[in-house]
Amino acid sequence: MKILGYNIDLEKAVKTINEKKYKHVVLQVPEGLKSHVYKFVEFLEKNTDSRVIISGDPCFGACDVGRYELRDLKIDFIVQIGHLPIPYVKNPVIPMVFINAEADVDVTKIVEKAIPYLKGEKIGLATTAQHVHLLDEISNLLRENNFKPVIGEGDRRIFSKGQILGCNFSAARCIADCVDLFMFVGSGSFHPLGLLLSTRKPVITCDPYTNEVKSDELEDLKDMILRQRYGAIARSKDAKVFGILVGTKKGQQRIELVNKIKNILDSNHKKSYVIALDYFSPMTLESFREIDCFISTACPRIAIDDYMQYETPIITPVELEILLGIKKWDEYQFDEII
Ligand code: SF4
Repeated sequence: MKILGYNIDLEKAVKTINEKKYKHVVLQVPEGLKSHVYKFVEFLEKNTDSRVIISGDPCFGACDVGRYELRDLKIDFIVQIGHLPIPYVKNPVIPMVFINAEADVDVTKIVEKAIPYLKGEKIGLATTAQHVHLLDEISNLLRENNFKPVIGEGDRRIFSKGQILGCNFSAARCIADCVDLFMFVGSGSFHPLGLLLSTRKPVITCDPYTNEVKSDELEDLKDMILRQRYGAIARSKDAKVFGILVGTKKGQQRIELVNKIKNILDSNHKKSYVIALDYFSPMTLESFREIDCFISTACPRIAIDDYMQYETPIITPVELEILLGIKKWDEYQFDEII
């Protein structure tokens, strides 16, 4: 099925549903595809004997492997569209399948356009789930132009070679020492920014949708974000009460890190409370007015990407260590779930 320029192989879900004779299916889709969710429902119901329920909750990534309460709705299968699985994160209660949304784009032009920006020979390639199927073609185009493309294998959070997540850049970091720069293929600025901060190598961003190549703009964004992060730490200097946020989504749970942070705060005579949440938003946090500073151990994007939405500063675990003088600003690291 083709929707909004993406190929979505729903046949794969149909095959499993029919083979296993599942009758009650939940469909999770990212916000960007939600307006087309009815087409997915109709397709699944037409080609199987199942009843499909749409999960209305936001689904930002494969860390969200469905809620166990769905058992009470007699759900026997979950179909999540738009993400590749996180290999070690599984729903132990309800079987599920991930259907990627593969961008149907021609990368020839964007690679040609990027070539003058590639100052070096060894080019690290990194991209998001929607474009991993394009990496072989991009590698061939680079080879034809005498470059040496390098694609890294990520850790066990990563499904496909060269894939990066907003919470994990291991597939790039593992090759950072042997490449001259990175070429990021995809849209948006969060992933390339994380790539830049995590690898400390130059990053050229290539957007195959707008046919835009960027390099210096990302450095400017990095400076702006680092200034913002420095500001968040400075704003939290006089904090008396801390809220340690732990995500309940299976792939965001970092309870050991929470315990470590709690111990650090206790030994620094700082009062703190641990707050578990499934969905983080200004509304869900606004009742915690006594908290002067939140430390997020959930999705790293909450502190960095959504920072401006919150009145109370939200910092990452590394930023807390900088705040308490355990680490220096020079040791700043992008928060990742690794
Ligand atoms: Fe995406 Fe955040 Fe989940 Fe990582 S933790 S997969 S960045 S939503």
